[in-house]
Amino acid sequence: MPEITLTIDGKEVSVERGATILEAAEKAGVRIPTLCHDKRLIPFGACRMCVVELKGRRGLMPACFNPARNGMEVLTNTPAVIEARKLQLQLILRHHPLDCPVCEAAGACQLQNLVVEYGIEEIPFPREAPKFPVDLRSHFIKRDSNRCILCGCCVRICNEVQGVNELSFVNRGIRTEISTDFGRPLDCEFCGQCVSACPVGALVYKPLGPMGRPWEVTRTETVCAFCGLGCSMLLETKKGRVIQVSSRYDIGTNEGNLCVKGRFGWTCVQADGRLTKPLVRDGERWAELSWGEAMERITGRWKELLAKGGGGTIAVLGSARLTNEEAYVLQRLARGVLGTPNLDHGAGLSYAPLLHGVGPVLGYAAATNGIREIREADVILAVCGDFKETHPVAKNQVVLASGRRKSKVIVLDHVHTSLCDLTGAEAVFVRPGTEGLALRGMIRCILEEGLWDRAFVENRTEGIEALREAVEPFGLDFVAQRTGAREAQIREAAGAFARAGTGCILMSSGTLGVGDPVDLARAAACLAALVGKVGRRGCGLHIYGEKANSQGALDMGLVPGFLPGYVSLGDPEGRKALEELWGVTLPQAAGHTARAILQGCAEGSIEGLYVVGENPIGTYPDRAWVQEALGKVKFLVVQDLFMSETAKLAHVVLPVASFAEKDGTFTSVDRRIQRLRKSLAPLDGVKTDLEIFMDLAAAMGKAFPYRGPEDVLEEVGRSVSLYRGIRWGEIPSGGLAWPLGGDGGPRGTTLLYAEEFPQGRARLELGPWDEGPLQGGGKDFPWVLHPQTRWFHSGTFSTWSPSLMEVCPGPTVLLHWEDAEEAGLREGDQARVISARGELAAPVRTRLRGPRGVVQVAHHFKEQALNRLLGWGEGLTWVRVEKAS
Ligand code: SF4
Repeated sequence: MPEITLTIDGKEVSVERGATILEAAEKAGVRIPTLCHDKRLIPFGACRMCVVELKGRRGLMPACFNPARNGMEVLTNTPAVIEARKLQLQLILRHHPLDCPVCEAAGACQLQNLVVEYGIEEIPFPREAPKFPVDLRSHFIKRDSNRCILCGCCVRICNEVQGVNELSFVNRGIRTEISTDFGRPLDCEFCGQCVSACPVGALVYKPLGPMGRPWEVTRTETVCAFCGLGCSMLLETKKGRVIQVSSRYDIGTNEGNLCVKGRFGWTCVQADGRLTKPLVRDGERWAELSWGEAMERITGRWKELLAKGGGGTIAVLGSARLTNEEAYVLQRLARGVLGTPNLDHGAGLSYAPLLHGVGPVLGYAAATNGIREIREADVILAVCGDFKETHPVAKNQVVLASGRRKSKVIVLDHVHTSLCDLTGAEAVFVRPGTEGLALRGMIRCILEEGLWDRAFVENRTEGIEALREAVEPFGLDFVAQRTGAREAQIREAAGAFARAGTGCILMSSGTLGVGDPVDLARAAACLAALVGKVGRRGCGLHIYGEKANSQGALDMGLVPGFLPGYVSLGDPEGRKALEELWGVTLPQAAGHTARAILQGCAEGSIEGLYVVGENPIGTYPDRAWVQEALGKVKFLVVQDLFMSETAKLAHVVLPVASFAEKDGTFTSVDRRIQRLRKSLAPLDGVKTDLEIFMDLAAAMGKAFPYRGPEDVLEEVGRSVSLYRGIRWGEIPSGGLAWPLGGDGGPRGTTLLYAEEFPQGRARLELGPWDEGPLQGGGKDFPWVLHPQTRWFHSGTFSTWSPSLMEVCPGPTVLLHWEDAEEAGLREGDQARVISARGELAAPVRTRLRGPRGVVQVAHHFKEQALNRLLGWGEGLTWVRVEKAS
C-alpha cells in the first residue's frame, strides 16, 4: 500500500493511503477523544468529539471517518476544537442523568472522563430526559436507555461483527432509544459484545457476583479455557474471586471480542461442587485422604500392577484442556515412568481429522492459516463447519467477510446452520454423511472443467493422477443422486471455490459428528491443494479442535503412537533422543487408542486406568459400554475439578486447580502458543495437574527435574522441533505460532506452507468412498441423529458453570417442522428420542428451513446424556422421535 505523509499538531507521520485522520493521529502519538468510535467497527461519526481543524480550511471535521491526505496539516487542540467538544458534551449531558456516583460504569465511563477532562461544570441548556424503563429481565446484561448517548456502538457491533441484529434504534427525536423489537428482553447470543462496546453505563453486566470499581480490580492477561480459538482475555479479580472478564483490542487475534463462554462462563471456577480434597472410595462411601496418603495409595497400587503385568496393564486418558506443559509431563509420566504406550484423549475422535486427514496430505496435523484470515477470503466453503455453535468468535470472521468484503459463503452440510442466514449465502444441503462424496464431486468437476491450479499442482503437489482416478467414479449425476443435492449446485460451488482469488474451507473437529470426519478432512485438504488455495493469505483449511488446547495436546504427544512433535514411536532416532533426555527406555508398541483402552478395561487386560481432566462416561460415545468398561477397572484414578460421572466410579479422586489458578501455555487452533496466567490462588487443598504429575513421578522413584511450567516449556523448546527455541519469558501477548525454530530463535507464522511442505510436496491422496456406514435406519428408526454443539457450552465442562446453565440449561429436540407435524409433535412438547442403544427426553423445537430427516440434540448435558444413543465408529445413528407420555 503506498504511503502518504501529513502532520498532526506539528508531528510528521506517514500512514497507508486510506487511513483516517484518527488512525494517523494514533500513529503519531496524538490522542483525539471519541465516544462513538470502536476499532472493531466501521466509523460512524455520531458523537463529533473527534472534530479537528485543518490548516487552510474553514470549519471542523470529524477525524474518525475522514481520510488522511498527503500534506495535510491537522490541528487537534485549537480553541475552536475545544469549544466544539465542550458544546458537544454539554448537549449530550442535556439528556444524560447526572448520577455518576451510583452508575455501575463510574470510573470506566468515557463520558465521565471527558466531562472531567474538558472541565464541564454547567449545562447552559434546559435538561430534558425521557424516562425509559430499565431492562433487568435479560440474562447477564442490564440495559438502561436513560444513560444511553446514542453512539450506536452496541447496535453496530451486534450487526457488523456478530451478525445478530438484536438491537436497533427505535422511535424518533427525543424518544429515540436503542432497544430490541417491542422492548422484549434480549434473546441473542449473550456474548456481551454490546456491553464491551458501550462507552457509558447504558449497557452493563448484571453482577454475577460482587462487583468492584475499576480501581479495586486486578486484571490478569490470560487465555480463554473453553474452545480452541484461544481468545485473549483479562480476568478481573477482587478479593480472591473473579468478578468479570474483559478483553482488549490490541491483544491476541480476537480484537477484544469474546463469546458468551469466554465472557460469562468463568463462574465454573468458583462454582459449588469444586473438589478440594483427595478422596478414596470404599464401596458407596467416600473418605478424605491427605495428599501424602493419596500418593502412597496410588503409586503403591501402580507398582503392584507393574510388577504383575508390566506397563501395558496400565493406561492413561488425558485431556485437551491440560496446558502444553501438563500434557507433555503427563505423557512422560505414562511412557517414561509407568512404561505404558496406552495413552490417548478426546476418545481419539477429537484429533483424528487433523492427524489422519489433513496431516498425510499437507504435512502438519493443523489448520493452515490464521483465524483472522477468514475475513480475507473471497469464497468461504463451510463443510460441516457451523462456527457459530462451535467457535463463535471465528464465526465473526465469516460475518465480517460476508458483510464488509461481500465474500461468498457456501454451506455444504446436512443441516441448516447459522451461516446459511448470511446475506447471499448459498446452502448445498446433502444427505447426512455424504459431504465427503459432495467434495469428491467438486474435485471431479474441477478436474473435468480444467479449473485446477496447474502451476501449483505441478510445482507443489504429487498424486494428481491418483486423485483423478480416485474421483473418476463420482460423476455429478451419481453424486447428486446419492447426496440429494442438485448437480448445478455442486458444479457452481466447485466453480466458485476454484475461481475465487482467495478461498478457504471451514470445518469443526473434535465434536461428535456425522459421517467420517477423517475422510472429510482429507477430501477438503485435497480440494484446497488442487485449486492452489494453500500457502496463501486468505486461503487454506480451518479445521478447528473443540477444546482449549486441542492442538497442544496433539503437539505434545498425548496420543497413541506419537511422541511430542509427531515423532512416531516406531522412529528409532526420534525415540532415542527422548530416551537420552529422560534416561529411560520408552515402550516401542504404538499403544492403544481410547477405544482399545476401554476394550482392554472391559476384557481385563488393562487393570489400572488414570483419567486426567476427561469424563469418558459423559462425553465418549456408547455411554453404557463405557460405563461398564470403567466399572471393571481394578484401580481407577480420576483427577478433576468436579465429581464427574467418571469420578464417581473411581477408587481415588484427586482435586485440581482450575485454569484461573495456574500458569502454563495453550496452543490455539492456529498454532499460537499463548500464556495462561494464574489470576487466583488455588482453592485450599487443591494442586495443579502439573504438581500432581510431579508428585506421582517422585513417589514412583523417578522424580522429574522441573521446578514449574517454565522448566517444562524450556525442555519442550529444546526437544520438540515445532516448538524449537520457545522460552517462557519471551512469549509475546497473542502468542507465537509454530513452526518455530531456526538459528535466529523463535519466529512463528500462522501461515503454513507459503514456501514448502514438510514432506516436499502436498500428497493428493484420497481414500475410497464407503457408503456402508451411511445405510441403516429402516422404518423403526427413520431419522438421523445430529449431535449438536451449542455455543453456550463446551463439552460437559461448561455445564458446571451456573451462568451458562442459566441461559442454556438443557438440550432440545430440534427437528424440521414438517417432520414434527408428521410425528404429531408441537413446539414445547416433551419428546423421546430413541435409538437402538438408548433414549433421552427433551422439549421439542422446530426449524423452518433446511433438510428434513435430521434430528439435532445437544451433547453437553449430564441428565439428558446424548451419548447413550450413540455408537462408536458405526456411521450414522438412526433414531425415531415420539411424544413422551
Ligand atoms: Fe473465544 Fe472460544 Fe473462549 Fe468463546 S469459547 S471466548 S470463542 S476461545
